[in-house]
Amino acid sequence: MNDICERIQAMHRRIQTAAERFGRPAADIELLAVSKTHPAQVVATALDCGQRAYGENYVSELTDKARALAGRGVTWHFIGPVQGNKTRPIAETAQWVHSVDRERIARRLSDQRPESLPPLQVCIQVNVSGEATKSGIDMEALPALAETVAALPRLRLRGLMAIPAPSDDFDTQRRAFARLRQAREDLIRRGHTLDTLSMGMSDDLEAAIAEGATLVRVGTAIFGGRSG
Ligand SMILES: *Cc1c(COP(=O)(O)O)cnc(C)c1O
Repeated sequence: MNDICERIQAMHRRIQTAAERFGRPAADIELLAVSKTHPAQVVATALDCGQRAYGENYVSELTDKARALAGRGVTWHFIGPVQGNKTRPIAETAQWVHSVDRERIARRLSDQRPESLPPLQVCIQVNVSGEATKSGIDMEALPALAETVAALPRLRLRGLMAIPAPSDDFDTQRRAFARLRQAREDLIRRGHTLDTLSMGMSDDLEAAIAEGATLVRVGTAIFGGRSG
């Protein structure tokens, strides 16, 4: 077995262990392999190990790899910052976007989503760390954006995503993820149907699973370090 397969299996064991520790079914936690900066050939190797869902941060990498691996059954998740002039290739290529953080981007993605494809599955990215991070919508503005996204015809609002400010401290990590969990509960009380909490990466996925992550986004621990 190759290294990538071993690391994917080790990651499933790590998810399983965390799920047991926090009393959750491991089947409720999906592994998204973050393949940014790694070539299509590396994704092909991971595909052969049964890993289907991949996260990309850069539009050109997303479209290049999607083209190279067309027909192989990959689910592509766009997880990087979305620029207003780059929405069309995302809307035409990805099945999921985790990083919708403003109305203009949501409207463009909906307008540009081809009729031949199912609706784009969307998470709203929320800023759970205040001043410490800039990406994601502020908590107070979230309900209005959720209303907008939920009403757009070619988007389907699935949940929330966050990238908290890095911390080595488990309780600090947990508090940030708890804010995202509470934000989801608040939107559910307002009548939204949200099944996804996209939170947790290589260094903090246990804390994310403790707070209810349904999808963890793992790059380094599967593919190794990145130069870019
Ligand atoms: C790079 C990235 C990840 C993966 O981070 P690792 O620490 O390499 O596991 C997850 N989510 C987003 C949004 C990223 O940009």
